[in-house]
This record gives sequence, C-alpha cells and structure tokens, in this order.
Amino acid sequence: MINETHDPALRSWVASANAPGSDFPIQNLPFAVFRPKGKAGPFRCGVAIGDQILDLAVASRAQVFQSVAAQAAAAGTKESLNALMAMGNNAWSALRLALSRALREKASEQQVLAACLAPQSEAEYDVPAHIGDYTDFYTSIHHATNIGRQFRPDNPLLPNFKWIPIGYHGRCSSIGVSGQRFPRPAGQLKSTDVLKPVLAASKRMDIELELGIFIGQGNDSGAPIPIGQAEQHVFGLCLLNDWSARDIQAWEYQPLGPFLAKNFATTLSPWVVTLEALAPYRVPFTRAEGDPEPLPYLDSPCNRERGCIDIRMEALIRTERMLREGTPAFSLARTSYKYSYWTIAQLVAHHTVNGCNLRPGDLFGSGTMSGPVLEQAAALIELTAGGKNPIALPRGESRTWLEDGDTAILTGWCEGPGKARIGFGTCEGTLLPARS
Ligand code: MN
Repeated sequence: MINETHDPALRSWVASANAPGSDFPIQNLPFAVFRPKGKAGPFRCGVAIGDQILDLAVASRAQVFQSVAAQAAAAGTKESLNALMAMGNNAWSALRLALSRALREKASEQQVLAACLAPQSEAEYDVPAHIGDYTDFYTSIHHATNIGRQFRPDNPLLPNFKWIPIGYHGRCSSIGVSGQRFPRPAGQLKSTDVLKPVLAASKRMDIELELGIFIGQGNDSGAPIPIGQAEQHVFGLCLLNDWSARDIQAWEYQPLGPFLAKNFATTLSPWVVTLEALAPYRVPFTRAEGDPEPLPYLDSPCNRERGCIDIRMEALIRTERMLREGTPAFSLARTSYKYSYWTIAQLVAHHTVNGCNLRPGDLFGSGTMSGPVLEQAAALIELTAGGKNPIALPRGESRTWLEDGDTAILTGWCEGPGKARIGFGTCEGTLLPARS
C-alpha cells in the first residue's frame, strides 16, 4: 500500500508545498471543486498543492497525462467529483501517481502545469460531490457513553453498540461547504417543568466534530460489499460538522432518532483526502479486553491489522468578539479518528449487508469522534456536561452552548516521525440569529 507517492523526501516545484507544516505537501494531493472567488462560472475539480490549486480541467486539456491517468483527469473537468469517484480505485491511484511525478522538483511537466495553477486564496469552493444519500454513524464509544449518560443516566450505552455500527439516514439538501452560514433553527422544545412543548428557537446549539467519508464506486442493489473489498469503494475523507440542536433532539429522538435536531445544516471541508494518501497513518483495529469480537462479516485480517487511521482532529470556536478584536480562535477539543469503535471498512460492509446499494458521491459521517478523556470530547454537550460547566474563553467570555455569531472551525491532520504531514484544511461554519 505504501508506494513512491508517500516518500517523505519528495519535494515539489510548487515551493509552498515544501513549507514545514503545510497541509498540502506533494504526498497529500486531495481533491475539491472550486472556481475563482466571486465569478459566476462553473465549478471544476482541482488538486491542492501547497497554497495553490492544480486546475484539473485545464491540465486535462493540456494533455499532460497518459492512459488511465488521462481518463481520470478528464473526469475531473466536471462540476463535481462524482465522475472521478465512479471510475474506481485504479483510476484514482493512477492519477495520484501521475500528479505526484508531474509536480515533483525537476519534472518535465513543470512549465505546462505551472500555467494550470490557481491560488487557493482567490478560490471559492462547492460541496465536492453531488451527494445522493447521507448516512451519519455513531462510532465513538466514548461519545455514545457520554451522551447516553445524559439522555439515559441509568443505561448510558445501549447493548447493541458493541455489535452494530449504529447509524441513521441524514439529509443532503442542507449539506454545505466550509463558510456555510445558517440561522439558529426553531423546533419543538420541552422543559422538564412544563408539560406542554413550545415552538421556539433552539437554546442548546452544538457542534459535532466528525469525518466525512465519500463513497467512490457503488454496488448493485442486492449485492453486499464484503469487508475485504470495502475500502476499494471509498474515495476519501473530509471534515464534517454535524450541527445539533440538543433541546430539539432530546424531545424528538425517541423512537426513531434525530430528525429536525440535525437536518437544518451539515458543513463539510472542501478538500477530500484520498485513502491512499492516508496509508502511512494506518493503525490496527483493536477491541478492549472483554468486548465482543465483531461478527464474521465485520472482520478480516486486513481490518485487524490496519483498519483504523490516526487522524488528529480539532474543534475551535471564534466568537463575534474574538473576530472583531482579532483574538485567535480558541481550541475546544483535540481528538483522533483512531478512537472510532468501528472502521471505515466495517461501515461499508454493514451498510450494504442487507443489499442496500451505495452510489458514487454518497456520504457517511463518522459520528462525533470523542476520545476517552474530557479534553477529547468532540461536542459541547460533553465538554460542558449538558450545559452545566461553562467553558472559559479568552477575555472573559464563556460558552455552554453556541451563541449567535459564533463560528465553529474544524481542522484535521496526520503527522508522525519520518512521515509527510497530511492535512485536511479547515471546515468553518457560522451560526446566525434565528429568523424573527
Ligand atoms: Mn453526528
């Protein structure tokens, strides 16, 4: 799985890609859809390199690439990544290798490709794919236990959690890209001292720090994807904020799960990092002593050996006042995707075991990725113990839940000795006042 594209010694002729701490060195090469900021023209696919975007539409027309890589680059001329996603693993991998070779120092393609670059600072992005279906999972046992304790103090972790990757079908129409701004949602709220619910703006607005998982090639209806082939159907990962109205959720969630508490907005980072780029950061899938082994359809030697990925994840907040006064965003939590109780391969195998068909561009949410300690809690409901313990922010501000004008910022990255840093960029979204 590790090949020449992962070599940490590789350097690009795009100088900014070689800067220490860059999210987008030549070993990363994530995909997005973009266009020049403020222009009304169509979006097209691009690849991040340093602080630049390689315009795949222009590069494809310049005929820099050959055979399968050229076909993959041609799919990148579309307004979404779906066509590239549908081509499958071999095409993505061939394009990655061709891009890696053409963007390296001393590459003969430098002169032609230099004309295909656009600065990220002058770009705007769209949701990277047309998302036909969105499924949000619930794969952190720490989050499930913490939140379960608040909703059901006597019975925090339900008995199915250790056997089934729990999920629900979410809403696609309100998925937006970083920069999304939306009004505080209204819904039915119920307080314990009043018997009758009221329709009002949510008072308990929260974030959920998650990863988004984009499906590449799909499967036919009725044909489950075995766990051994599951990752070949995954195009890549991004950051995902599953905004949640906890007061709406607490009243509506039984018996069918979240509904209006979550379907008003979901924010994605623009860049999709391929699974291949993440190969150096794979870690074993393990279970705590005494926990059940997964059923055979959720188990494979490869999944045990390298099913998890150590992706560092962070959530920050920037209040209106912090923005006004130029105060840097404040870190709320730092965690890792390695805390997931279920792997990506297990999610794909489970989602399709009943014959459900996935399609290119379908999106999974990983679930709120809380780790074992409080500083790793990936939602305010955990960090503030359901609103009881306010978080102190710089200059005397504090928060239990989000206030109007607050911006939530998610980041993610992989790093380790002897490995190139692989960054995810940022995922920002802002809560506006409720409509009057
Ligand atoms: Mn969620």
